Amino acid sequence: MQNLSIKSSAEFMALEDKYGAHNYHPLPVVLAKGEGVFVWDVEGKQYFDFLSAYSAVNQGHSHPRIVKALMDQASKLALTSRAFYNDVLGKCEKYMSDYFGYDKVLMMNTGAEANETAIKLARKWGYTVKGIESNKAVIVAVSQNFHGRTTTIISASTDPTSTTGFGPYMPGFQIVPYNDLESIEEAISNPNVCGLWIEPIQGEAGVMVPHEGYLKGCDELCRKHNVLLMMDEVQTGVGRTGKMLASDHENVKPDMLILGKAISGGLYPVSAVLARDEIMLTIKPGEHGSTYGGNPVACAVAMEALQVIKDEKLTENAAKLGVTFRERMNKMIEKTDLISLVRGKGLLNAIIVNDTEDSSTAWDICMKLRDNGLLAKPTHGNIIRFAPPLVMTEEQLHACCDIIEKTILEFKIND
Ligand code: PLP
Repeated sequence: MQNLSIKSSAEFMALEDKYGAHNYHPLPVVLAKGEGVFVWDVEGKQYFDFLSAYSAVNQGHSHPRIVKALMDQASKLALTSRAFYNDVLGKCEKYMSDYFGYDKVLMMNTGAEANETAIKLARKWGYTVKGIESNKAVIVAVSQNFHGRTTTIISASTDPTSTTGFGPYMPGFQIVPYNDLESIEEAISNPNVCGLWIEPIQGEAGVMVPHEGYLKGCDELCRKHNVLLMMDEVQTGVGRTGKMLASDHENVKPDMLILGKAISGGLYPVSAVLARDEIMLTIKPGEHGSTYGGNPVACAVAMEALQVIKDEKLTENAAKLGVTFRERMNKMIEKTDLISLVRGKGLLNAIIVNDTEDSSTAWDICMKLRDNGLLAKPTHGNIIRFAPPLVMTEEQLHACCDIIEKTILEFKIND
């Protein structure tokens, strides 16, 4: 790399374009450094990060305590595989089980893998505990979901960008409309259903917040029909929405809690499923795993990252700043026709741009925000998601709101 003598943003982007697969469409900014709520590009310009790597960097970029945990463990013992025991995994399993209040945890690496794990657990439980006939188990998912990119997971997706060209699809999923308890009840009363698979707030779909009582309703229906509630909190978990888990907003404790992203504070790919013994122990040795899943570095990083959330009261900060943020955005909306709505919980929010889904307006606004020192990204055309690190101060949040307000109020379509 050193001898490539590449320095400018344009050169780095050209390099990725030429040698990398074109499976992303990044905003044109090339980052070289991060610290707390800030990132810097290769030219040295500073930005507020208002995406937090899709809510993975809740604890802020390169949190010193998490960096130290990673370095200490990496220099001692990094990977053994699960062929042997190691002296960190058990501690982390106990730590996470106690932290979230479950009997057991199964650690993986990415959010998609944690969801895959939950699917396998739900099916195994369906056959061995609920008594569903072999290969007949159904998992009910909802429209506009996002759970990852594997071929199994996209089989339950309703987003053509995720699915088109990647069939044939995995059977065993039924999709019902989002935020519709009646349709859920109709679907899960089928005795072959083993799991109801939902996100408490749909992040990728554009921060879709369901009606109050939805999560509670899902939970009650699952109890009534002996179906497992599989809650994907990969994006919403770990303080992001102003509660430790978004499910906590309705005091719901899912049968399976699916976590990823911020359980490592963005330092390492760590994901996990938590469940009670009746579910977790249906999977036997050799039936599931991953070479890197639960490795010593992942465990050391996860424990420190989760402890930082509590020690620095980041959940409480997200709740408080979220209220301020939506207040500021609602005041701004009164002054412009460009934005129709702000919605979200804690520091997971989105603004809706008053333009068609296929217009470039939201993208163009994000380009202007970038020019003004704040990085955000549209999701689904006309929606801009705002999810800064939870270590943000009130003063910084106001500075960010000033940037957003100035950008939006000065913005002209086709500028
Ligand atoms: N589930 C949810 C709710 C997500 O938001 C994401 C990623 O955005 C995933 C799963 C997939 O996680 P990963 O990209 O780590 O596989």
